[in-house]
Amino acid sequence: MAENKKFKIPFLDLAAQYAVLKPRVLPLIERVIEESAFVKGKYVAEFESRFVKMHEASGGVGCSNGTAAIEVALRALGVGEGDEVITTPNTFIATAEAILEVGARPVFADVDPETFLLDPAAVRRAIGPKTKAIMPVHLYGIPCDMTKLMEIANEHGLLVVEDCAQAHFAKHGGKYVGTFGDAATFSFYPGKNLGAYGDAGFLFVRDPAKLAVARKLVDHGRESKYVHDLVGANHRMDGLQGAVLGLKLDHILEWTKRRRAAAAEYSPRVKALGLPTALARAENEAVYHLFTVLVDDRDRVVERMQAEGIEVLIHYPVPLHLQPALRFLGYGEGSFPVAERVAKAILSLPVYPEITPDQIRTVVDSLAKSIGR
Ligand SMILES: *Cc1c(COP(=O)(O)O)cnc(C)c1O
Repeated sequence: MAENKKFKIPFLDLAAQYAVLKPRVLPLIERVIEESAFVKGKYVAEFESRFVKMHEASGGVGCSNGTAAIEVALRALGVGEGDEVITTPNTFIATAEAILEVGARPVFADVDPETFLLDPAAVRRAIGPKTKAIMPVHLYGIPCDMTKLMEIANEHGLLVVEDCAQAHFAKHGGKYVGTFGDAATFSFYPGKNLGAYGDAGFLFVRDPAKLAVARKLVDHGRESKYVHDLVGANHRMDGLQGAVLGLKLDHILEWTKRRRAAAAEYSPRVKALGLPTALARAENEAVYHLFTVLVDDRDRVVERMQAEGIEVLIHYPVPLHLQPALRFLGYGEGSFPVAERVAKAILSLPVYPEITPDQIRTVVDSLAKSIGR
């Protein structure tokens, strides 16, 4: 994730964040090294307990990345061979990879045309005899309709695993995402709202016995130092990442407020241009990992904005059911029309805590010009 100096407004400005953290983060990193607290250890344990407490979650464990978190969560809940997991085609491929990695099959359901997130009505239609779990993804930092999804899950006796990789501290009905389902997973990839200095992830598991299984799976199935009662793997969190994330927890709620302020600057302006954006309904507090708009002739718009020094990206141009790697699932063009429409038109504008109202005006001016307004 190298900073790209050729853009006058970058998509994300981690250097600005580092400038603020530097006086505290460098001595902290030095301490971790001096104490040789490299893997798991006290910094990870402290971060784990604070992250869980801030969410009022029942319990959780740190791990190596967000993809591993999904895998471990599914295994700990007993999802595997022969099971189907209903999820959205509009997400990063990790969501489906982890489902396949545990031997289960991803079954896609189309997204809601207003939120671009998993549509509860489509989920209901996708339920079959092999369905074991629903995996909503709070994409862009916008919460899914967890009220309806939990209703459906309870009605059909299905597990729910929330992919919160883009939605740290977002709320639905006043409650943090990640605390609705049987398990929830987070990514601390550097570009995420809460980002490590490398890869890291987290999972919440509601049932204490299953959480204990998850803890073991993360660390070679260890019962004690030399006794392994499960076949696990090495999915442990680094001490350095635990320490850095702990420090960043002091800032995350303030950063989230500033992301919301940036989204509030963007919203009326893109609305005035007549461009649809992913809608956060009134019962939700979104955390705007991404601020997206739908535009016609998207690739031209990208080209023009980039030429004006504004870094825009696309999340995501290819829905999962049309990814070459997932062709074997048997879906094709037309399987999920809403997700396909969104993928063709979606564009992510720069959003980060440090972005200024002036920069946002510049981005929107360039967007307006690029769409011929
Ligand atoms: C980033 C991301 C992941 C994977 O997280 P990693 O830490 O990169 O493994 C999973 N799901 C979604 C929606 C993501 O954005």
